[in-house]
Amino acid sequence: MSRFFSEKHNSLTAYTPGEQPKNREYIKLNTNESPFAPSKGVLEAVREQAELLNLYSDPECTELNKIAASVFGVDTDRILMTNGSDEILNFAFMAFGDKYHPFAFPDITYGFYPVFAKLNGVPYKEIPLKPDFSVDVADYENIGMNIVIANPNAPTGLILSLSEVERIVVTNPDNVVIIDEAYIDFGGESAIRLTDRYDNLLVTRTFSKSYSLAGARLGFGIGAKSLIADLNTIKYSTNPYNVNRMTMAAGVAALKDNGYYMNNCKTIIENREWTSKELKKLGFTVTDSMTNFIFAKSDKIGGKELYLSLREKGVLVRHFDNPIITDYNRITVGTRAQMETLLETVKTILEKGNE
Ligand code: PMP
Repeated sequence: MSRFFSEKHNSLTAYTPGEQPKNREYIKLNTNESPFAPSKGVLEAVREQAELLNLYSDPECTELNKIAASVFGVDTDRILMTNGSDEILNFAFMAFGDKYHPFAFPDITYGFYPVFAKLNGVPYKEIPLKPDFSVDVADYENIGMNIVIANPNAPTGLILSLSEVERIVVTNPDNVVIIDEAYIDFGGESAIRLTDRYDNLLVTRTFSKSYSLAGARLGFGIGAKSLIADLNTIKYSTNPYNVNRMTMAAGVAALKDNGYYMNNCKTIIENREWTSKELKKLGFTVTDSMTNFIFAKSDKIGGKELYLSLREKGVLVRHFDNPIITDYNRITVGTRAQMETLLETVKTILEKGNE
């Protein structure tokens, strides 16, 4: 820390992203990326825009908002595009949180929420999950705080039904409820259609998982016009050109190729179900994930030990140093071939442990 770092950030512990090692080739199942390349349309659109990089991007994201509005069935003034969904989540903490408007979220969830809260000086309450890792809706009813819930949740993979989400929204009319749908394309029911009925609901989405654009950094929020207007005030006070030209064009092209991506999601779901079944045969406990990752613990080997052994053998998964979930690993669902290698490697590790 330099002598100049503001006192207000003294106690800030930054978010730690999943490792992106450069030292060797890994089967990378640790950051929930898509194993599928972007569609050809995306590559062409990005190439075209690369030639125009001397010009600023459109701060209003006009074309992208237009196509997103038609795909997601809302008006363009109810969408805000951002630099990954991390950015809209940060904007939301900035816009709606302060010492009188704290946030509540589960104790086991996306690790960035407490970081955004601390960064923005927003008090927060972490609410324990039930022993089976599900969110107890009753904990959030009439809570009188802003709420952010990843649905499906990460890293547990478990989902709340649309009626449960609505219950939380309805019982907190004077607080903002943010539903982070980063993984919703892998099996869940989106709350977007509730956003025209409730002025306190913000749904956030990302192109990083189902649209194979993690490296482009594109996310968005859908909510009432008034919420989106507030978030725009934050955006125009932070970085009006938050979505660059190439990414904006990639987003348009990806939505035009929606069928390709939704088909990839189907493949991921099939691979998830198959891998979960195989892991269970090996004695793993596997949550009922509705995402592009599997959350699993072995009855034979500790979570950290398995993570380290897999890593040593060239397969990267994600282990969290949190005592509640220390027995578990989060395994991104990749191609069938990647999943077969994962399972073979797991078998080798377990057999060695038996020797
Ligand atoms: N929400 C959740 C629950 C996530 O797991 C992630 C991915 N790390 C994000 C939001 C952010 O994704 P991105 O910024 O790539 O859109």
